Amino acid sequence: MARAWNFCAGPAALPEAVLTRAAEEMLDWHGRGLSFMEMSHRSPEVVGVVEEAEACLRRLLAIGDDYAVLFLQGGASTQFAAVPLNLAAPGGPADYLDTGQWSKKAIAEGRRYADVGVVASDAAGNYRTVPPRDSWQLREDAAYLHLTPNETIGGVEFTEAPVAPAPLVADLSSTLLSRPLDVSHYGVIYAGAQKNIGPAGLTLVIVRRDLLGRARPECPAMLNWETAAAADSMYNTPPTFALYLAALVFEWLEGLGGLPAMAERNRRKAETLYGFIDNSAFYANPVDPPWRSWMNVPFVLADDGLDKRFLEEAEAAGLLNLKGHRSVGGMRASLYNAVPQAAVDDLVVFMADFERRCG
Ligand SMILES: *Cc1c(COP(=O)(O)O)cnc(C)c1O
Repeated sequence: MARAWNFCAGPAALPEAVLTRAAEEMLDWHGRGLSFMEMSHRSPEVVGVVEEAEACLRRLLAIGDDYAVLFLQGGASTQFAAVPLNLAAPGGPADYLDTGQWSKKAIAEGRRYADVGVVASDAAGNYRTVPPRDSWQLREDAAYLHLTPNETIGGVEFTEAPVAPAPLVADLSSTLLSRPLDVSHYGVIYAGAQKNIGPAGLTLVIVRRDLLGRARPECPAMLNWETAAAADSMYNTPPTFALYLAALVFEWLEGLGGLPAMAERNRRKAETLYGFIDNSAFYANPVDPPWRSWMNVPFVLADDGLDKRFLEEAEAAGLLNLKGHRSVGGMRASLYNAVPQAAVDDLVVFMADFERRCG
């Protein structure tokens, strides 16, 4: 069996070691005579795995006891509504930084529940940079400041948590666990799992406990973080199989040396690809260099008439899912934790060869 290199933006590559282990355990989990996904979520086995997943995640990110870790469903998109419903008064002020397509979606959903203020936007510049901090129009009375530190579609990333009067709420769907992060700078962190954590179906929310208990009365129980925290993420049936796979991913990360080790690997992968693109007259990445994402690398060919051929030949070479997001076109290579250096090396060899033949 040959596994191809998968550069998909999400659902994305999972570590081969994790998939192998899951396959081994599929029919008979730890001698129980059934698969993990056939067990009650109230069973000691499932509760134990969820507790271990949480403990491992807390070690990886050094999450303090003053934060609750919630395993939810509905994807990051559901949190676009859950954030204002849990934190903002009806029609009350909430601030958002607009750095790209995912910011825009969070803003549009936020407007249904709060008086959204866009503190700064690079929409006019086509989202190639992060507006400088001193240009942001922050409101003192905002319930929170919402950030998208890694724009998965545009490939714009910032890693420093800004200082602001309101608690920071960060959609870290495509960058959480890619490098160390100081959780204590944030009020709330959320992420859909299918980029860098595990399979689709699981949503991670990390919330500072003093921000629990502010949900407005009409907040649905399923979106209420306090309800989830009080029920240890088992208010209803959680996505047990996705949780089990995420637990294996966390264990895998820890075994490799945790987030400092991942950062080294991810830095090298990103440098390999950006370095190649910048040295080529045929390929280009539009993002302002200080804000280039380590996880998602969009690029265009000098002649977009060659896009189709590039993708067909890449696929034939075992390099999958390089098509850019439908809203921006071109190409995009996502270099999440589970994508090894060898995949990026092979991609660069292919790109150089394609340029020689077609450029
Ligand atoms: C993928 C993604 C989303 C949407 O995630 P879903 O789980 O599909 O709702 C939101 N924000 C960012 C930054 C993403 O990368």
